Amino acid sequence: MTTKTSQIHKTSTVDVKALRRSALYSLFIGIAVFAAGADFVEQRRVEPLFPSFSLSQTRHLSDYLSSLRNTHCDTDIYIFNGRQPGGTALILGGTHPNEPAGYISAVVLVENLAVEQGRIIVIPRANASAFTATEPQEAFPAVFTLTGRRGKPRLFRIGSRFTNLLDGWPDPIVYRHHPSGQILSGNETRNLNRAYPGRADGTLTERTAYAIAEIVRREKVDLVIDLHEAAPEYPVIDALVAHERAMNIAAMAIVDLQMVGLDFRLEPSPPNFHGLIHRELGDFTGAQAMLLESAGALQGRLRGATNENLVIKSKDPFYTQAARLGKLQVPFPPEGIPLEVRVGRHLEAVTLICKSLSDAEPAKAVLFKNVPDYQAVIEKGVGFWLQ
Ligand SMILES: [Zn+2]
Repeated sequence: MTTKTSQIHKTSTVDVKALRRSALYSLFIGIAVFAAGADFVEQRRVEPLFPSFSLSQTRHLSDYLSSLRNTHCDTDIYIFNGRQPGGTALILGGTHPNEPAGYISAVVLVENLAVEQGRIIVIPRANASAFTATEPQEAFPAVFTLTGRRGKPRLFRIGSRFTNLLDGWPDPIVYRHHPSGQILSGNETRNLNRAYPGRADGTLTERTAYAIAEIVRREKVDLVIDLHEAAPEYPVIDALVAHERAMNIAAMAIVDLQMVGLDFRLEPSPPNFHGLIHRELGDFTGAQAMLLESAGALQGRLRGATNENLVIKSKDPFYTQAARLGKLQVPFPPEGIPLEVRVGRHLEAVTLICKSLSDAEPAKAVLFKNVPDYQAVIEKGVGFWLQ
């Protein structure tokens, strides 16, 4: 009897210890999940933008495709009307939120634009879901800070090239583009710039592309410019990629850009590479469609420490060395290619492309003021142009 009681006693002592240990593990796991979860929730918080006083209207992408309402791909659309009639330009940033120059250039437009003739529609976060997570295994910082004109810090998110996997899980093994049937790797299913012209009943990414194409159709957009950034070793870099119908305007803008000392390559949109905005919106809508690439070390495979400094300064010793060895497609000075250069190039190009359209087709003129040119961004910094 005594032996039995002591055995029961012994077992219950062991159970209590195991219970304590598992409670402790659960606590640790809980803390880790909470800490990581807080980061994920934070990444879904949309940073405010402060549009210029001449903003005419704010709409949402879901106004053009109702099934996007209450999804992470619904996003703000800023519409600026000029006093005089003219054409309509659509400018996109954040198609790839891991390319900060594209996003920030669109933000500077929203916060400064005053349209005089025609109309400009800006979507700074074209793939809003892709802002809600950074790319796995790339060690990107989640945010970066720019100091605004009044000295206040402004946080901007860095996202991924792709729609958040939580909004489109799982990827198929291969991605079949609609309607061409072109086959790409499965993760390209979530790449907005492989999804055009989109599908009203497709994946979230296809629906986002479809809604953007709907804006072009319903608002009778004449000119589309999509703002990007790419690795210095990538062949399509410091470039203006244009659909064949946009080639005339693009060529005129390239000459104007050279006149202000900015070299851009003019790249024709490949006719057999489907899903890209300049190809599909050029083929499926009446707009002249093009895309701008600036060069940033953040996108490159040769980069070293990937931190906020690299995002803003784009200064990296490995890229300086690669440039010395002649391995890059663009000049890469030891001081890097700072955000001022990348944003300044985008803004100057947008201005001169609109000017070319206005010169070539006066009925479609899009003219505006208050947007800084390349020199103004270099001299005062990007932050100065943020409200
Ligand atoms: Zn891109």
